[in-house]
Amino acid sequence: MGAGRFAPSPSGDLHVGNLRTAILAWLFARSSSRGFLLRIEDLDRARAGAEAGQLHDLAAIGLDWDGDVVRQSERLDLFDDAIGQLRARGLLYECFCTRRDIAEAASAPHAAPGAYPGTCRTLDEARRAAKREVRPAAWRLLTEPTEFTITDLLHGEYTGAVDDFVVLRNDGVPAYNLAVVVDDAAQGIDQVVRGDDLLSSAPRQAYLASLLGHRAPEYAHVPLALNAAGARLAKRDGAVTLAQLALAGTSAAQVRAQILDSLNLPTSSLPAALAAFDPAALPRAPWIHSAAPSGR
Ligand SMILES: [Zn+2]
Repeated sequence: MGAGRFAPSPSGDLHVGNLRTAILAWLFARSSSRGFLLRIEDLDRARAGAEAGQLHDLAAIGLDWDGDVVRQSERLDLFDDAIGQLRARGLLYECFCTRRDIAEAASAPHAAPGAYPGTCRTLDEARRAAKREVRPAAWRLLTEPTEFTITDLLHGEYTGAVDDFVVLRNDGVPAYNLAVVVDDAAQGIDQVVRGDDLLSSAPRQAYLASLLGHRAPEYAHVPLALNAAGARLAKRDGAVTLAQLALAGTSAAQVRAQILDSLNLPTSSLPAALAAFDPAALPRAPWIHSAAPSGR
């Protein structure tokens, strides 16, 4: 039996869009007889107390999960092992570029937009040694293909760019793209359901998984929640967290019902929604959430 997962960053309270993605990940996992795991992606952006609040809110809308909650900050050995393996195979190189260096080089003619232009690929050891004196290096993956194809349950075959992306940041923290791949494999996760803002990074991650000898998971990148103006839903959009909505008179059960209704599923309970769940029938458009102003 494989598993699906929900993997929030503990940067603050979850908003209704995050909760909707969590419910979708649960529905995809449970409807395919998979386990459902929770992983806290706290290598970056962890705020004190946020994890406890997120777990509370997930339980409040009725989600259950299997086993202990996993925290990435407790799994640094796993990431070190993967980085060591890639380095031993000659697949990593040091990069000393600043954001500005990359932006300037990437704006050159013929450069792929947003991709790392490969500036540090061919530095010789003398130049590396000199640059190490000035700035600590990030470590990038020496990639062979320039694109990679994944299969997504909602988007079908999707081909996206693969550049020499960072696997170890220059502050020593494993990069998101590495940690997510290593953790999914180590946890036996074979289904990744998450917001479609991450679709474009899935080819990089699937390529890295293949280098590390792992099968890419089954992906489902689901539509995000947007505010009334069509921008990605955010905390500033009014009452969007369970705590804010409770103050505005909306219970967790009512929030769950609104989310299930937005998915064209029965609103009475999660088991009823699960019984009716059909990925092929999911709405493909973003969910427009018109939040009430907070504090009213
Ligand atoms: Zn560089």
